[in-house]
Amino acid sequence: MRTPARIPAPDRRRFLRSAGWSALALSIPPALGGCASRAAATATDAAPAFAAPPPLAPIFATPDRIIAIDVCTRPFRAQGPRIEAERIGDHTIVHNYGHGGGGWSLSWGSAAEALRLVQATGERELAVVGCGAIGLTTALLAQRSGLQVRIYARERLPLVPSSFATGVWSPASRIAAASHATPAFEARWERMARTSFRTYQTLLGLPGEPVGWHDFYHLSDGPGARRQRSGDAPPEPAYADLESRLIDDLGPRSRALGDGAHPFNAARVRRKPRLVFNLATYSRLLLGDFLQLGGTIETRTFHSPADLATLREKTVVNATGQGARALFGDPSLVPVRGQTARLIPQPEVGYGLAHGGHNLFVVPRGDGILVQTQEPGDYDNDDTTPDPALSVAAVQRLAGLFQ
Ligand SMILES: Cc1cc2nc3c(=O)[nH]c(=O)nc-3n(C[C@H](O)[C@H](O)[C@H](O)COP(=O)(O)OP(=O)(O)OC[C@H]3O[C@@H](n4cnc5c(N)ncnc54)[C@H](O)[C@@H]3O)c2cc1C
Repeated sequence: MRTPARIPAPDRRRFLRSAGWSALALSIPPALGGCASRAAATATDAAPAFAAPPPLAPIFATPDRIIAIDVCTRPFRAQGPRIEAERIGDHTIVHNYGHGGGGWSLSWGSAAEALRLVQATGERELAVVGCGAIGLTTALLAQRSGLQVRIYARERLPLVPSSFATGVWSPASRIAAASHATPAFEARWERMARTSFRTYQTLLGLPGEPVGWHDFYHLSDGPGARRQRSGDAPPEPAYADLESRLIDDLGPRSRALGDGAHPFNAARVRRKPRLVFNLATYSRLLLGDFLQLGGTIETRTFHSPADLATLREKTVVNATGQGARALFGDPSLVPVRGQTARLIPQPEVGYGLAHGGHNLFVVPRGDGILVQTQEPGDYDNDDTTPDPALSVAAVQRLAGLFQ
């Protein structure tokens, strides 16, 4: 983790001096350096004294530091991910697609659900179609259960939509419409989220930090900060509220920070640690593990379900993400556009930011400071042409968040 360990405030001052960090400490607003515990005591759910925030290195938020702008779509289904088996000729197709904005987060749990259906066939050889977050984790879990696995895919990581995600724990993000959140769906979602969360804790502390915990500061300006919707955009459904009801016990809670206990221009600030996926190193880790366990990958495009039934493996996992809409003629898959920009990496920045109800989201990743906004026309929008003006505006907005 790049976030320094938490140290009591007086000890921290001694530590900063002894570590030669005094110059950095002097550049921190007084409330962040020495008075954090006093400020925290004014907060409604004050953090204990030992939870004083670490020094926050400034983010150099200027548009000339943008090194990449990427666009991909979230494969959203109102009824949630499709995880079920279907017979086509003498083949069993196990579908595992439609994970909206939570595919990385739910991947291990979703793979476990799909694997149960695979194992019911009794086959020892498995084909997985798709080499994104879902295909690769399903393939790995199947290998670990003793199956021999071949991946077939048009593109593989890092050239798949999964590679252009934000990279944070977001298991309920655009995962299902509230109107479809049946008890059966919720039970399965909770199982998937808990399995994934547990698995991610086994991936901490590895070289290159594929997965890590980082403090996030959630800034809000008051009731007017909510996302605006444009009149002609297709109506976005109300999403199922799952996290706070079903997995509230997982992970640390957020803490309010009092005035002066943070360097941000915002009426209200809360701090909460979050899991971050460094997708560049994490993808390589997954691919490396798959190949090391004897897996093979074949580049191939399928044009119809009947194509899958020509594979020599009799059990096939369909992990084609948004591709399933064309391949299986599934109109329930709705693309939700997402654009991200990366600023030049700043290894000294170990914290993230969320502003205006996640409308602006900033993630401290190894391959850059990722800046993302959500836009009114994202829903049902499969246009993956980058719009640089959006990213420039997002970076300027980020700059304005620092006092
Ligand atoms: C902007 C943005 C931010 C996101 N942020 C997060 C986040 O922070 N946390 C999180 O958990 N999730 C996030 N997501 C969601 C997550 O990225 C997706 O849910 C996930 O990537 C879906 O993975 P997948 O493997 O199903 O699909 P993909 O990554 O699209 O993989 C599909 C695979 O199938 C192959 N394929 C498709 N069609 C065919 C065909 N006909 N023949 C052969 N192969 C085919 C493709 O080549 C590819 O290999 C985000 C998404 C977006 C757009």
